[in-house]
Amino acid sequence: MKIAVLGAGAMGSLYGGLLSDGGNEVWLLDIWKEHVDAVNERGLVIEEEDGERLVKNIKAASNPEQIGSVDLLIVFVKSTVTGEAVRGAVPVIGEKTPVLTLQNGLGNIEKIEEVVGKGRVIGGVTSHGATMLGPGRIRHAGRGDTYLGEVDGSITPRLKTIAKAFNEAGIKSKISQSILSLIWGKLIVNVGINALAAITGLRNGMLPEYAGTSEILEMAVAEAVRVAETKGIKLQYDDPVAHVKEVCRLTAQNKASMLQDVLNKRKTEIDMINGAVVREGKTEGIATPVNKVLAGLVSVMQETYDIRIEH
Ligand code: NAD
Repeated sequence: MKIAVLGAGAMGSLYGGLLSDGGNEVWLLDIWKEHVDAVNERGLVIEEEDGERLVKNIKAASNPEQIGSVDLLIVFVKSTVTGEAVRGAVPVIGEKTPVLTLQNGLGNIEKIEEVVGKGRVIGGVTSHGATMLGPGRIRHAGRGDTYLGEVDGSITPRLKTIAKAFNEAGIKSKISQSILSLIWGKLIVNVGINALAAITGLRNGMLPEYAGTSEILEMAVAEAVRVAETKGIKLQYDDPVAHVKEVCRLTAQNKASMLQDVLNKRKTEIDMINGAVVREGKTEGIATPVNKVLAGLVSVMQETYDIRIEH
């Protein structure tokens, strides 16, 4: 299969690298020139727990015209730039090319549909984790399942083809008939962890250990669950707060991605996580004051990196 990965940072490079080693023709498409050059000159290095993997056959480009039309486009830019990035990638999207998003946050499917039209986007969630180490080099930080699903819940030949290619490349993947529930399920974990970690500077495992953060986590998650339920979304776990706290414990040493963004003075995905809960809550008539406070604080933090007093 000819595959392009739009946004070849930590996760895009991981999926691109594994799919390339799985025998697919893979192109990484990224605006980061040093990374593109490093991959083309030396290949992509994936640091695994048990050693390094050098992916030699993978290609990279900043200009989508160089790639031409592909059989699958995987979107892995941050959800802050989904719309503009997909518009920039139009030359690789043929008339029938499915576009798969495995990003975090809400709204990615809709933003991609604005460019390619309804019925062309496949949703997904991933439990893999990765970190960018520098041009041409990533760390595969955590393993887990990938779920893929059509937005309308149908099981289509293209979905089966993609899941087969993923599994053959060692990316353990399952087809879901309720991908929106899984996207909300992952959103709710991010709602409970990310903003609190970014604001407090704590690693995931510490958040349930203090009364202050634990209670705010519970309230933020409860609000998001009410919004999801009102929208008719059935979550995959019975006790969302217990689930989020369990994720904190299982990933105790992790610095949440939003904390990493704040530490590196980057724009965060707050608008698509806690901010999205506030927007959806407004539409559904559900009050979301805790998410509003969390979203407001992180928004101000990311707007004031250069003028804030360091502490
Ligand atoms: P990242 O910042 O490492 O990578 C994003 C890449 O997109 C960068 O290389 C950047 O240069 C590129 N980019 C930005 N604008 C672009 C454009 N217009 N065209 C092409 N490329 C562009 O991000 P990441 O950590 O890989 O995360 C990607 C998505 O996956 C996010 O939604 C994140 O929440 C989600 N996710 C991340 C992890 C993880 O462990 N890192 C795990 C699960 C999900």
